[in-house]
Amino acid sequence: MEWSKEAEVRIKKAPFFVKNMARKKAEEVAKSRGKTRVDIEDIEIAKGSGELEDLSTMDLAIDGLKNTNFRDMALCGGIRECPLTLFNDEEVARIFDKVIKEEDLEKVIKGAIDEPILYHKKFKAAISGCPNSCSHPQIKDISIVGYSSPKINDGYCIGCYQCVKSCPEKLVTVDKNPRIDIKECIDCGRCIRSCPTESIRELEKGYRIYIGGRLGRRPHLAKKVVDVKSIQELEYVLRKLIVLYKQCIIQRKRFSKTVEESTIEEIQRKIGIH
Ligand code: SF4
Ligand code: SF4
Ligand code: SF4
Repeated sequence: MEWSKEAEVRIKKAPFFVKNMARKKAEEVAKSRGKTRVDIEDIEIAKGSGELEDLSTMDLAIDGLKNTNFRDMALCGGIRECPLTLFNDEEVARIFDKVIKEEDLEKVIKGAIDEPILYHKKFKAAISGCPNSCSHPQIKDISIVGYSSPKINDGYCIGCYQCVKSCPEKLVTVDKNPRIDIKECIDCGRCIRSCPTESIRELEKGYRIYIGGRLGRRPHLAKKVVDVKSIQELEYVLRKLIVLYKQCIIQRKRFSKTVEESTIEEIQRKIGIH
């Protein structure tokens, strides 16, 4: 059976002892869906089925870090594989892991759930190096996505059109000076990197934090909670969010449901950043 490029990248991150089993399961899922090609969604379904618990370890492939029965952290290709990444995803993963451990999240989950922790009850997180969002931050409890916003600097353009070619959203035009449809811009930073004269510069770069995504019977897409520019701010906000997540678990409320029912301002107030 054929595999999409993205699915191949993902399956390569599975630990060697589950790789073959994971591959077989994903192909079975694709086949049962009437497909001849495995894509990332088939892998997610295979993981979500609960039949292959070890598949949950396939996404976090950094020395010294691993997923467990209570958490599932997904990384994109990041600095190991992708030139588009806007931050060091391994550094971010280590900080996230440190906060989870220091906040005793595993203990809280284990203490509150007195039955086997199935996939939908695990803590789910994603780290994506850019807004392409290959690790699916939109459907996780807490996610971090790299962003880089452009700013026009009139008077330096040499009309090479590299920026126009580089924008995946076709938002850049050039007429003496570049122009960007900023409302539609996803802050991927590609036009900035393509410009040889700094006619398009970086206004801001950092970590965009999303919360409250889930799949299942009633899916909900994660909401952006805040942009932070330094790794220290990132750690601060992650800790506050993990504390909020623990409160939800203790009160037997689903974190994503709490986020769904709140405005972002309410969430920001709850975690003390508004
Ligand atoms: S999310 Fe961006 S940086 Fe990460 S693998 Fe995808 S394209 Fe590359
Ligand atoms: S940042 Fe990305 S989406 Fe925005 S204009 Fe530049 S290339 Fe296009
Ligand atoms: S890449 Fe820079 S110099 Fe080239 S056309 Fe775009 S803005 Fe002008």
